[in-house]
Amino acid sequence: MKSLQKIDIVARDLSDEVQKSTYLSSKAKTEKRMAILQKDFPEANRLREIAGEIKQHTLEHLDQYLAQAEASLKANGAHVHFANDAESANATILKIMQENGAKRMVKSKSMVTEEIHLLPYLEKHGMEVVETDLGEFIIQIDDDHPSHIVTPIIHKNRKDIAKSFEREGLGDYNDDPETITRRARAFLRQKYLDADVGLTGGNFVSAESGRVSLVTNEGNARFSVAANRIHIAVVGIEKIIPKDRDFSLFLNLIARSATGQQLTVYNQFINGPRSPGQPHGPEQMHVVFLDNRRTEVLASECREILRCIRCGACLNVCPIFRQAGGHAYRSVYPGPVGAVLSPLLAGNRFPELADLPKASSLCGACNEVCPVNIPIPDLLLRLRDKAKREKATDAMKGTPSLGLWATLCSQPAMWKTALSMGHTMNYIPTELIPHPSARAWQHNRKLPKFQGGEFRKWFRNRPPSSK
Ligand code: SF4
Repeated sequence: MKSLQKIDIVARDLSDEVQKSTYLSSKAKTEKRMAILQKDFPEANRLREIAGEIKQHTLEHLDQYLAQAEASLKANGAHVHFANDAESANATILKIMQENGAKRMVKSKSMVTEEIHLLPYLEKHGMEVVETDLGEFIIQIDDDHPSHIVTPIIHKNRKDIAKSFEREGLGDYNDDPETITRRARAFLRQKYLDADVGLTGGNFVSAESGRVSLVTNEGNARFSVAANRIHIAVVGIEKIIPKDRDFSLFLNLIARSATGQQLTVYNQFINGPRSPGQPHGPEQMHVVFLDNRRTEVLASECREILRCIRCGACLNVCPIFRQAGGHAYRSVYPGPVGAVLSPLLAGNRFPELADLPKASSLCGACNEVCPVNIPIPDLLLRLRDKAKREKATDAMKGTPSLGLWATLCSQPAMWKTALSMGHTMNYIPTELIPHPSARAWQHNRKLPKFQGGEFRKWFRNRPPSSK
C-alpha cells in the first residue's frame, strides 16, 4: 500500500509467533526492572537524574575527557586509535591483525561493531571471526540481524535455534535450552583457545584511569580477552565517564535497566595489556574510539541521545517496539533510542530513516524508564520537525490531513454533531472510508469499538448538587 510507511509494512507482515515472542519477553523485562528498582532504590528517579547529569556534563566537555582517557590508556601501556568513520575503524582493526600475523578473532557482543559492519569486512579480508555471545552466535550462523540491543534474538524461539544447530552440525535436533547452551559452549571453547585476537566493545571508559568496563552475563568477554595475545576494544566516543567512582552508579543502573538484575554477572575492568610481572593476559591492548557522526550528533539539537548506555529499557517498554519488533526499524539501533539515533547517524541518508521518529505514540514511557533520563519524546518531535523542514517524503507518507480535524475542533457545534455520529464508524466497512490515508491506516489496525459521547451525556445529566 503506497501510503504506508516502511515501518508499518514490516510491522504488518510480522508473523504472530515473532510478535508474541517480542511482546512477552519485552513485557517480562519491564516488570522485572520496575520491581527491582522499587525494591532497592526508593528514589530511583533521582539516580536517573544524576546519571543523566554526569553523562551530559561529560558530553559538554568531551574533547577534554577524551584527551584525558587517551593519556590514561597510553600511560597504562595501551595503544589508542581514533576512527572518524566505519571504514577507518575497520581498516585500523584489520591493520592491527595483519601486522601481528593474526588470522582468527573471537569477539564479544558489541553494538558499535554491528554499526560499522566489522564482521563481513574482516571475513572479506580472509579473517575468521566468531561471535561468542550466544545470541550473536545464533545470529551469525543464521546470517540474520539482531532485533534488540540486549537480547539480539528476541525474535527467535528455541525451536528455530534447535533447527539452526542441527543444520550447522552442532548435534541432532534438540530444543532443550540447556542442551543448546552446552553445545554452543563446547563449540566456542576451542575457538577461544585457537584465536589470536579478542575483540570487545566497552560499556564505559573512565577518563581518570583509562579503565574500560565490560558487562556481560555469559563471561564471554572475559574469555575473549584473557586467552588471547591481543585485545582490541572498539568504543563509541560517547562512552567516556569522568571518574572511576562513577562506575558504581552506572553499573547499578545498567544491570537493573537492561535485565532487572542487581548487578550483571560478569564485570571486567581492563586498563591495559598485561604488565611485565603478570603471567597471563594480552600482550597488546588497542582501544579504537569511534566517531562515525557522533560529533555531528553532539552539535545537533538532539545531543542528549548520546547519553545512552544501551540498556534496552526503552525498547522493552515501547508499545510500538512490542508490536513491530526490532527489524522494523531497519537499522542497528531499534526501538525509541533507534528512532532518534539511527536517522541522526545516517547523515545525508536521513530522509531514508525519517519515518522512524513517527513510530511513536509519544506516551513518554521511554523517558520514564531511561536510566540516564533522555527526553526521548522531545527528541522525536524535534526530528519530526527536521523531517518536515527537509521535506523527507518517507516521513510524510501515511500522514492523514489534519485540515478536517482542525475545522471540527474549532467549531463546537460541528464537533458535537460529529461526536454524536461517531458510533456510525462501527458500521462503515474499511473499504468505504473516503480518505485514502485514513483507509490505509484503518486497514492495518484493529480499533476498539467506538463508544464516544458518554462523558457529555453524563455531564449534562449529573445531579444538581455536583453542578
Ligand atoms: S535511550 Fe535510555 S532507555 Fe533507551 S537504551 Fe539508551 S539508556 Fe537505555
